[in-house]
Amino acid sequence: MSIDAPKNIGTKFTSRRKFLKGAVGIGLLSASATNVKAASSKIVNQGKIKAKNCIFLVVDGMGRGTLSLANDYALCCTGRPLNWINLLENKKVRTSLQNTASASSLVTDSAAAGSAWASGQRIRNGQINISMEGESLEPFFLKAKALGKAIGLVSTARITHATPASFVASVANRDDEDIIAHQYLEHEIDLLMGGGARHFIRPGCSLLEDFKRKGYSCFRTKSSMLKNVKASKILGLFGDTHLPYALDRKHSKQYFQVPKLEEMFQFALSNLSRNKSGFCLQLEAARVDHAGHAKDMASIVEEQLEFDRCIPIAVDFVDKNPDTLLIITTDHGTGGCQLNGIGNRYEGVYKTMDRINKIKASYEFLAEKLHQIKNPEKQLFSSLLGIGLSEKDLKVIKSMMDQTYSIFPFGYREKTSQGYEGYRHDYLAANLGSYFERYFYEQTGVAWTSDAHTSELVDLIAYGACSGSIPQYMQNYELNGLLRNALEI
Ligand SMILES: [Zn+2]
Repeated sequence: MSIDAPKNIGTKFTSRRKFLKGAVGIGLLSASATNVKAASSKIVNQGKIKAKNCIFLVVDGMGRGTLSLANDYALCCTGRPLNWINLLENKKVRTSLQNTASASSLVTDSAAAGSAWASGQRIRNGQINISMEGESLEPFFLKAKALGKAIGLVSTARITHATPASFVASVANRDDEDIIAHQYLEHEIDLLMGGGARHFIRPGCSLLEDFKRKGYSCFRTKSSMLKNVKASKILGLFGDTHLPYALDRKHSKQYFQVPKLEEMFQFALSNLSRNKSGFCLQLEAARVDHAGHAKDMASIVEEQLEFDRCIPIAVDFVDKNPDTLLIITTDHGTGGCQLNGIGNRYEGVYKTMDRINKIKASYEFLAEKLHQIKNPEKQLFSSLLGIGLSEKDLKVIKSMMDQTYSIFPFGYREKTSQGYEGYRHDYLAANLGSYFERYFYEQTGVAWTSDAHTSELVDLIAYGACSGSIPQYMQNYELNGLLRNALEI
C-alpha cells in the first residue's frame, strides 16, 4: 500500500547538485505542499523576521487522550493546567493538526514520522531518511549545520533511537543503532545527550575514543554534565539503554545522577545558543511512547509532565530571542490512552488521580525488581502499585517470569547485541501491563485501545519567528518545507 507518497524527490546528500535538484522538486512535487505555502501567506504572520534558531520539541507517541489525562492530573493535583494548555490560552501560538501516515502504512512508526519532518518525504516504516527509491535523504539539520548552525539532539531514549536519529542520520534499518552512532561522529553533531551508551562503548569498538579525539567532552553523570556547559562539543550518555522513566527517577535514589529532561534541555540551550550563526535543537520525551506500548498509566502521566516542564523554558527563550522558531508536537499516538467515564453518572473518575498517585514505579522498574528477587512478593506490589495481590495472581506473575504466560507471549522487547533472546525485562513489563489493564480500568477509567501506534491526527504548536506560516492542517512531511523556509535553508 502506498499512501500519497511524494514522487522522486530523493537525493544523495553527498551531492550538492542533486540536492539542489531535490529542493526544486519539493516545490513541484505535490499540489498540497504548494497549497500550504500559498495559504500560509494569508495567515497573520507572527513577525516577519526569519528564524535564526529552531527548537523542535517532540513528545513521542502522544495522542490527545494522553494530553487530556495529564492535564486532568495536573489540574487535580496542582490546581493548574499543563503548560501546553496554558500556552494555548495565553500566548499567540499557531496550532495545527497533522496527518502522520507513512508511505507503507496509515499508522506510522517514529522512524518514518521523524524522516517526514526532517527530509520532507513519506517513507517506509522502519527506515530513516531512505527514499522510496532507496536513496539517502539529507535531513534539514545537516543543511543547517552546513550553513554554520550548531545542531543538537536530546532524548530520554537511546540517543541513537529513531526520532533523534531521523533528524541527522540515514539508515535502511532503524535498528542499526551502531551505524547511527558512527554517523553522529561523521557529521560531528554538536551536542548529543540521552541514553544509549551501549552503542558507543562496546567491546572492540573505539567510537568513544574517536569522539574524544574529535574534541568532544564525553560524560555519563549529571554532576559531570554541569561542569561541561561551556564545552564546544558534547556527548552526554546517561544510561546504557533508554533512560529510566521519570516516575522511577522521582522515587528511586539509584537514578539521581540521571538528569531530568528539562535539565538536559537547559544545558543544551545554554550550550548551543553560544553559536553566533544560530542553532537547531531537537528534544524528545521518548518514553510517553514506551509507556503507551506498556499500558503504563502512571508512567505515561509522569513522562508527559516532565515534557511539559520544558515548555516554559522554551517559551522564555523565544521571548528573549524572537528570531527563534519553536515547534511543539508529537509524531503519532501510542496505545489509545483515554480516561473513560466509570461509575454512576461517571462520578467514579473523581478517585482516578488519587489512584494514579499511589503508583510509585513503572512496570519496567517492577520487572527489574522481580528479576532480582526471583519470586513475586505481595509486599512489592502493594508498596509500588498499591495493589493487594491474591495467591492466584502471584502464580500468574511467576508464570510470566518463567516465560510460560500465554496471553502476551512476545511482549515489547528490544533487540540487543545478543539478539532478541538477551533481553526480557520489556517482555515482563508488557505482560504486567496487560495483566493489570482490566484492574486499573475498573479503578480509574483509564483504558487503552491496543499496545500499538495509532493513526490519529496529532497536535502541533508553533511559536516565535515565522510561526504564522504554519497552517491549521497539514501532512507531516509538509512541515519540512515550512521549517526550511523559516530558517532559509
Ligand atoms: Zn512506539
